[in-house]
Amino acid sequence: MTTSNEQEFSRARKVLVGGVNSAVRAFRAVGGTPRFIARAEGAYMWDVEGKRYIDYLGSWGPMIAGHSHPHVIQAVQQAAVRGLSYGAPNVMESELAERLCAIFPQVERVRFTSSGTEAAMSAIRLARGYTKRDRIIKFEGCYHGTADSLLVKAGSGALAFGTPSSAGVPADLAQHTLVAQFNDLASVEALFAAHPDSVACVMVEPMPGNMNLIRPAAGFLEGLRELCTRHGALLIFDEVMSGFRVALGGAQEVVGVQPDMSAFGKVIGGGMPVGAIGGPAAIMEMMAPLGPVYQAGTLSGNPIAMAAGLATLDLISGPGFFDTLHRSCAQLVDGLNAAGREAGVAFSAQHQGGMAGLYFRATPPTSFSEAQQQDLERFKRFYHLMLAEGVYLPPSPVEAFFFSSVHSDDDIAHTVSAARRSLDAVA
Ligand SMILES: *Cc1c(COP(=O)(O)O)cnc(C)c1O
Repeated sequence: MTTSNEQEFSRARKVLVGGVNSAVRAFRAVGGTPRFIARAEGAYMWDVEGKRYIDYLGSWGPMIAGHSHPHVIQAVQQAAVRGLSYGAPNVMESELAERLCAIFPQVERVRFTSSGTEAAMSAIRLARGYTKRDRIIKFEGCYHGTADSLLVKAGSGALAFGTPSSAGVPADLAQHTLVAQFNDLASVEALFAAHPDSVACVMVEPMPGNMNLIRPAAGFLEGLRELCTRHGALLIFDEVMSGFRVALGGAQEVVGVQPDMSAFGKVIGGGMPVGAIGGPAAIMEMMAPLGPVYQAGTLSGNPIAMAAGLATLDLISGPGFFDTLHRSCAQLVDGLNAAGREAGVAFSAQHQGGMAGLYFRATPPTSFSEAQQQDLERFKRFYHLMLAEGVYLPPSPVEAFFFSSVHSDDDIAHTVSAARRSLDAVA
């Protein structure tokens, strides 16, 4: 063994901020040393010490067909020898956009970006340009990437303007962001009433995964749809995580509610950096080069990323893919819930398609505040016991976890028995 996670972490901290390039990877919520991954294949990742983990991080969502799937790798290799980037149109951009238009009824035009952050940020600019209004409504606990307007939390008092949730975001800018509560339609109605004719859009994760997995209550998304239509605001579904993950057609397919625009990412890049916005031509064509809303990206529509996305969509578009995924993930979730009951710990788990949540509370949360009400100390201990058992979960109690089509019955059985031992140990 030539190196260790510990050694690599101290090396990384000397040159990378906190040793990482995305904050949550630093393990701050669980403590301890982040694992430095050397390689990943199928349902597994191996760290630099050669330890194997059953992976439920899935690169935070994209790896729905497993790591290094031969079909995806071949597509990437074939694309790579044709050149890494052109800065000019390529045919795969149209091909991937045609697939999105075929899957999502309201999507007539697509714009690709290089990340989900850019997609969410550009969707908001487009909504503001289209409606000629400045305010936006988002939900506490929903994450839409790191654009300034979206790093905003609720101010004091339900109807107060938003305040920055990060240093470096001007309060003047945050004031255009109004913050409502997920699954609380009255909180949205109140904001519309307090700010008539000035809300450009409501942006929401229709099935949030960034305050752990939370299901939309019956009627909530339908209610948002109705409120947006009534007030002339656009409804934007951020399906960066839930798209091609809870179902091929995302949360909007599961709940049967049509947004005006959708943001995508993660799975559509198959593990390469991609984001996308999709919507009706009348809205989308407000964007440059056809309209006044500026948007651009040097590497947008990158041929390697398009190839990986297309190959991934090939794998997950087949008949029965999501039925099988949903059934296998249900088997895992049922096993975890049984382990929790046997251990006598306040614990619960749920899933939709290949997106899942486990919670150190007796029932799955239905709101941001409930998602905070978990036994965090127990989670931390459980987390490290599971790692030691060779099970890699997202290192935070408020993140969803991700299942793939290549997690086998054996992987599920191993995970459940590891969970049983770990839950017993923390009981
Ligand atoms: C991951 C995520 C983003 C941000 O995507 P990046 O590619 O990390 O910029 C935006 N919205 C949601 C819902 C996400 O889960």
